[in-house]
Amino acid sequence: MAEFLVLGAGMVGVSSALALQARGHQVTIVDRKGAGLETSYGNAGMIQVEAAEPYALPRDLVTLFKYALEISNDVTWKMRGVVQMAPALWSYFRYSSPEKHAHISQFYSRLVARSTEDHRSLIRDAKAESLIRHRGLVMLHRNEKAFEKAAKKAAFLRQEYGVLSDIFDGKRYLKEEPALKKAQQALCILRKAGAVLRRES
Ligand SMILES: Cc1cc2nc3c(=O)[nH]c(=O)nc-3n(C[C@H](O)[C@H](O)[C@H](O)COP(=O)(O)OP(=O)(O)OC[C@H]3O[C@@H](n4cnc5c(N)ncnc54)[C@H](O)[C@@H]3O)c2cc1C
Repeated sequence: MAEFLVLGAGMVGVSSALALQARGHQVTIVDRKGAGLETSYGNAGMIQVEAAEPYALPRDLVTLFKYALEISNDVTWKMRGVVQMAPALWSYFRYSSPEKHAHISQFYSRLVARSTEDHRSLIRDAKAESLIRHRGLVMLHRNEKAFEKAAKKAAFLRQEYGVLSDIFDGKRYLKEEPALKKAQQALCILRKAGAVLRRES
């Protein structure tokens, strides 16, 4: 048995601590705030088995231009932060090349494929079953172009990594999700089977 000190009580720190404890080690977690109050608190609450590939840093000029001017929801930034994180951003940029990204994804996808299974015991031990919906992730698209892009990506993920998905009619889906009042004309839906969505509490 060894003694471990885990810094950070987010999802990663707590999961690591529990895994070490399960192997019989003595573990202490230290956090500068409370447990689970930072990123692990404010995320979208999905267990993303469909995210077989990590997010690559975009390299096309249009997207980078939008990031620079902060006209996208993806990124907000401050010059001081960019300077502080310059070495990490440079590594992120280098490892986001199509070749390196494809190579990394081969390993990443195997870890992600286990995520529903790996969360099962954490959910059970936390008695959190009532917070989880096992209905998959549904993506609504308001126009044909966005839908076609997503459908193409889904076909790629299915072929490359075996991620299951389903495409069905938007108007029919309104019956399943009464909170949605109307479907756009071209609303289409892509359900990626296996993902888990947390119910709002
Ligand atoms: C908007 C958003 C939506 C997301 N949605 C999803 C999603 O739906 N599904 C998904 O799987 N992932 C999602 N993610 C990603 C996911 O939330 C993160 O990958 C995950 O929460 C990271 O966990 P963590 O434990 O590494 O970090 P954190 O949860 O941020 O934990 C780090 C902890 O370390 C502590 N800490 C930091 N510095 C110190 C220090 N010096 N000393 C002591 N303690 C310190 C902090 O207080 C914090 O509690 C999302 C992320 C974002 C930003």
